Amino acid sequence: MQQTLTGIAASAGVAIAKAFVHEEPTFNIERLNIENVEDEIGRLQDALSVSKQELSAIRDKAEAELGADKAEIFSAHLLVLSDPELVDSVSDKIKSDGQNAEFALNEVANMFITMFENMDNEYMRERAADIRDVTKRVLGHLLGIEARSLATLVEETIVIADDLTPSDTAQLNPVFVKGFATNVGGRTSHSAIMSRSLEIPAVVGTKEVTTQVKTGMMVIVDGLDGQVIIEPTEAQLTEYRKKKADYDKQKEEWAKLVLESTVSKDGEHVELAANIGTPKDLDGVIGNGAEAIGLYRTEFLYMGRDNLPTEDEQFEAYKEVVERMENKPVVIRTLDIGGDKELPYLDLPKELNPFLGFRAIRLCLEEQGIFRTQLRALLRASAFGNLKIMFPMIATMEELRQAKQMLQEEKDNLLADGIEISEQIEVGIMVEIPSTAVAADLFAKEVDFFSIGTNDLIQYTMAADRMNERVSYLYQPYHPAILRLVKMVIDAAHKQGKWAGMCGEMAGDEIAIPLLLGLGLDEFSMSATSILPARSQILSLSKTELSQFAEEMLQLSTADEVEQQVREQFINA
Ligand code: PEP
Ligand code: MG
Repeated sequence: MQQTLTGIAASAGVAIAKAFVHEEPTFNIERLNIENVEDEIGRLQDALSVSKQELSAIRDKAEAELGADKAEIFSAHLLVLSDPELVDSVSDKIKSDGQNAEFALNEVANMFITMFENMDNEYMRERAADIRDVTKRVLGHLLGIEARSLATLVEETIVIADDLTPSDTAQLNPVFVKGFATNVGGRTSHSAIMSRSLEIPAVVGTKEVTTQVKTGMMVIVDGLDGQVIIEPTEAQLTEYRKKKADYDKQKEEWAKLVLESTVSKDGEHVELAANIGTPKDLDGVIGNGAEAIGLYRTEFLYMGRDNLPTEDEQFEAYKEVVERMENKPVVIRTLDIGGDKELPYLDLPKELNPFLGFRAIRLCLEEQGIFRTQLRALLRASAFGNLKIMFPMIATMEELRQAKQMLQEEKDNLLADGIEISEQIEVGIMVEIPSTAVAADLFAKEVDFFSIGTNDLIQYTMAADRMNERVSYLYQPYHPAILRLVKMVIDAAHKQGKWAGMCGEMAGDEIAIPLLLGLGLDEFSMSATSILPARSQILSLSKTELSQFAEEMLQLSTADEVEQQVREQFINA
């Protein structure tokens, strides 16, 4: 029976093929009283060592086929298997409680999984998935249950699964696996990230795809609109074959733009930049033709570990990014921790409203040791490329002045020690708090640039938590209030001869792009895979025409009206 499920579009493209339902083996784990402790520890060690051999082989394969950065997750998995906290706790339970190895391992792993899952930040929650993935492998060996490996698929297939673990995803051979769909996951889950780098169309978070699809059924995965069509009709097959052909052709066209600069139809250049979280993202940035890095979220350097990164570690990371960008601009944002991004080792008290609390620059101005270490690392790296420094969450002029003052002090200290620093480091701020947008004319006198952080600016302007599904209808990028704030910021920058960029998700949105171009935005910073479609769109737009249009849009009453006008005139035209 034909049926359509809706999920989250995780990786663009359309795939049509027969389904393979990848089922998790069911483990029946009973508690047994063991007789010989030494034998049981031996069984555990054997299962661990076979698992390590397998993981090393998968890591080598992933490194050869997908690159070193994609293989790193398996080094992390290998570390889990050698982690004394986990392994010793399991051995202790075998020795002291006489538990069988599988029961002890399951107990200990579940304890760690629950601990990580209950952390507020997404990065740490993903560590729970790593432990679950590794544990399953070891349990499989202890119980003698073999799961069919995805690596053995040798015909065109769409993989259907509850979730795909990193080791599942790395085994997918894009020659045969044309797409996948899962029950769980979001755009930032590991499987979604991997699917984008493999360029396999994927839909995640469908909730029930495994209960509706059986192996061998015909399935369409529409990674453009987040739909899974099960047992399509002839008419649907024809429709989606066309959609796939159109998209594939589109991609070939986009690929031709990698080395082009981004110039509107009437000859105005805008800069298309990429957002990154770590130097590992650089391959995608360069491969997709970014002209700059518009936002390097440095907090990822501080996360997933249990102590602060040293000045040298930070220096190496920043230096790598500016060097690989070969003098193209690189905007590095100072630590933006807090809100949904926690650092457990800082031991900060829980807050009722973390998004309105002690985060980002507020924390840095108080914890000066942390901030100054980062500033020194940034200043030292500035000698190796075109590095710009950006402060997040600025709400008042005092914060900006204090941050700049500390930067100047660290600069003086380094120069006094004879350390080389670039003489032209631009210093800017994120505009993500309404007070700063409204007073942008004042801030423009004291910064070199603005970057509008719409992810936060929208939530604060509309008073709608960006993480809360129930108020997501209020999260409206095209609301005239947001567009007016954006205009105020851009105009204020230009009046002082400064530039204005945007690094929130809105910058890569096809509805927002004509409006932002019309309002005079100078730099658009987005995820790397959005760059070529954005460039292609901008090449066909006239900035002069759009500036009149954008002014008119500011006078409309609702976000829906704005969206409809843009669609009619610039998307479906
Ligand atoms: C923003 O707020 O728009 C932004 C880019 O920062 P983040 O998403 O990291 O809060
Ligand atoms: Mg922000």
